[in-house]
Parts: sequence; C-alpha cells; structure tokens
Amino acid sequence: MEKRQQLYEGKAKKVFATDDPQLLIVSYKDDATAFNGQKKGTIKGKGVVNNRMSNRLMQLLEKKGVPTHFVEELSERETLVKRVSIVRLEVIVRNIAAGSFAKRYGIDEGKVFAAPAVEFSYKSDALGDPLMADDHIPALGLATPEELDYIRATALKINAFLKEFWADCGVTLVDFKIEFGKTADGSIILADEISPDTCRLWDSATGEKLDKDRFRRDLGGVEEAYAEVMKRLEEHEG
Ligand code: C5P
Repeated sequence: MEKRQQLYEGKAKKVFATDDPQLLIVSYKDDATAFNGQKKGTIKGKGVVNNRMSNRLMQLLEKKGVPTHFVEELSERETLVKRVSIVRLEVIVRNIAAGSFAKRYGIDEGKVFAAPAVEFSYKSDALGDPLMADDHIPALGLATPEELDYIRATALKINAFLKEFWADCGVTLVDFKIEFGKTADGSIILADEISPDTCRLWDSATGEKLDKDRFRRDLGGVEEAYAEVMKRLEEHEG
C-alpha cells in the first residue's frame, strides 16, 4: 500500500490518498479543539490512543455485524480505511444527561435515561453543527428515510455493545457521537472514530471524567485520562 498526497486536514486527523482509489490512510494528531474550534490545544499521545481505541472497537463491532470503514492498523497513528463519502450528520446517542443536553434542558448532569436517546446534528462547522428535527434530514437530502432508519438502528446497536463493553472495563458510557459514510456501492458503514474525543466516559466507581471534557472544561489530567481508558480497554482485551 503506497501512501500518496494529503487530501484533507481536519481538527484531529489528516487523510491521505493511497494507490487504491477505494482506500485512504487516516493519521491521528494530538491536536485538540473544542467549542467549534474556539478552544485549541494539544493532548500529548491522544492520536495514538484514539487510533488504537477506535480500531479495537471497530474490529469488535465488525464481529457483531456492524460494517465499519476499518481495514488495517498501519502504525500507532495511522490506519487504512475504506473511502466513503461522509453522511453530513453527527449521530449522538445518550444514556445519561450531560453536556449540551443538560444545558439545553437546564438540568444537572447525571440523570440516567430509561432508554437511550438518539439525536442528529447537521455536520456544518460554519453553522456550528445545529440540532436537527428528524424530518429535516430527508428534506435536506442528507439521507433517505430508509437510510435514516438504518443509521438510527445501527447507532442503538453500537450503543448497546459499547455500553456493555465499557461497563466490563469499569467505565460508564454516558454518550457518544458517531458518523456514517457511504461507500461507492451505496452501502452505509460506520466511519470516523470512537474515542475519548467523541465519547463521554465516566469511571463507574468514582464518577471521574475520563474523556475530552477534561480538556473542554480545564479539569487537568487530560493525558492521564486518555491513558487510563486505553489501559482499561487493553486489560479487558487481555
Ligand atoms: O456536547 P454534547 O453533549 O452534544 O455531546 C454529546 C457527545 O457527542 C459527547 O460524547 C461529545 O464528546 C460528542 N461530540 C463530538 N463531536 C461534536 C459534538 C459532540 O464528538 N462535534
């Protein structure tokens, strides 16, 4: 596999072409941003954690019948993935009130929901990723009603798996954001990443935050939190 020109540089990752038009290389950076790029910083070692963690979780999800973009881990920061065109939706699944949900409804973080809640935001940096009414998604042409049904059902399946997985690691999965992509043949697969950048993970015993909220909220111990969740995952994997 030959790495070719850089196609894109995002906030946390770079994407490179390869000699195969259906495959790309993703390279994870230590750069961190929050609040739609208003807060910037570096989390040392984050790229390595996010690459490894995302790859492990996607491999496990594949075994559970969830198709993902993962192909092969190339190095500690680089992974070969299937080329997709990203569905312009941030798909968020929540198990416990936190973050923008707690803020929107004026409640404290920590309320455990009777059932997981799925929500969609329009993926647009310019607009600040606004929350969408579900019917606006086919109206805007972002996904067909059938594709949206698949995305919602798959997001809930991913949640059920991840919630149990993290619980076995002594970590509570509060919420997370995922993205889907469409392959050349039109199938929809899980893309982007699953990492402490995109999930809220709380220590089940102490409630301590082990995710990007430590960076967003200046809580300190950011690198240590990323290393800790990675350690828990690796210990669980054996
Ligand atoms: O901020 P909010 O409560 O809406 O975030 C819900 C979940 O989605 C959190 O786990 C957060 O890390 C993730 N998220 C993300 N990227 C965004 C917005 C939210 O990964 N742009």
